[in-house]
Amino acid sequence: MTHTQVIPHQTPQAVATLDAQLAALDLAGRLRLAAGLGRAVFTTSLGIEDQVITAAIGTHRLPIEVATLETGRLFMETVVLIGQTEERYGLSIRRFRPDERDVEAYAAQYGLNGFYDSVEARHACCHVRKLKPLARALSGAEIWITGLRRAQSGNRASTPFAEYDTERNLLKINPLADWEIGTIHAHVAAEEIPVNPLHQRGYPSIGCEPCTRAIKPGEPERAGRWWWEQDEKRECGLHVPEPVASAITAAPH
Ligand code: SF4
Repeated sequence: MTHTQVIPHQTPQAVATLDAQLAALDLAGRLRLAAGLGRAVFTTSLGIEDQVITAAIGTHRLPIEVATLETGRLFMETVVLIGQTEERYGLSIRRFRPDERDVEAYAAQYGLNGFYDSVEARHACCHVRKLKPLARALSGAEIWITGLRRAQSGNRASTPFAEYDTERNLLKINPLADWEIGTIHAHVAAEEIPVNPLHQRGYPSIGCEPCTRAIKPGEPERAGRWWWEQDEKRECGLHVPEPVASAITAAPH
């Protein structure tokens, strides 16, 4: 049977059925089911949730491609962890980097760190450094696997196991949607999964270095991301569509 015959399409009923199937499985079962639906790509930020998924893919030798967005502004700890993870699990993590012409055009218009000045400038930077590389990472994929969890933020509280991404025209699978952070930590400890040392220093959610700070006790997990912005629903646009500055036109893709 081919992928195109078994992949559930975007009908709400088909996605709801898949969602219920995924809910009844453990992590490996969820990933195995997703991998059987078509060409599957897992995008990792090397955060603790994503390390849990990468470990499962590597341990169970699942036919899922692993990709990361090397934005050029990552913490050194994150960059080092990419190689450590590849070595530990014997897999290859494909790096997708921004187009240099886009980066130069952004810097010319907004300044290299112009993202602090306005939400528009921040969206434009994420567009250049994340969204366009993500589009290349997902090119040709039928299944997009993510480490989204409902407990990460109010904005993610209704994250399903399966959803159809109409913007990218693929099925998005979130196999950790119902995992609490305590479960994540227990699993990482039990399986001795390598994680970013920044988690121990108050960074539960780690993105680009200039846009991530440690959180204070009691703050939401993602409070350290783009902390200078007031919008409680701030995201980078990977999982929630955000407006994009239209003036970054140096590169045609
Ligand atoms: S998180 Fe910050 S540095 Fe990274 S792409 Fe977005 S605005 Fe740019």
